[in-house]
Amino acid sequence: VTDASFGEFARLLEYKCAERGRSLVKIGRFYPSSKTCSVCGHRLDALSLSVRSWDCPSCGVHHDRDVNAARNILAEGKRILSNTEGTAGHAGTVAAVVA
Ligand SMILES: [Zn+2]
Repeated sequence: VTDASFGEFARLLEYKCAERGRSLVKIGRFYPSSKTCSVCGHRLDALSLSVRSWDCPSCGVHHDRDVNAARNILAEGKRILSNTEGTAGHAGTVAAVVA
């Protein structure tokens, strides 16, 4: 997804969420979703893009990079939503849809 088309995707997602009464939360572009363990919260210092799966050195769980990131993005979206319920607008570039 290029930066340009992601902006259009986000705009359409906002429209569809509003149409269906859903909440859309955007999380920060630098939120470390890939290198943070979604089970225990351990954060790796670095994680190369070529690494598609990894084992958490803290709790030992094996992660698929993208599934782990998706879990972290959903959790972060829920956290932001619970802190800002009823307010509109969040700065960020990555979107998480929370029912
Ligand atoms: Zn862990």
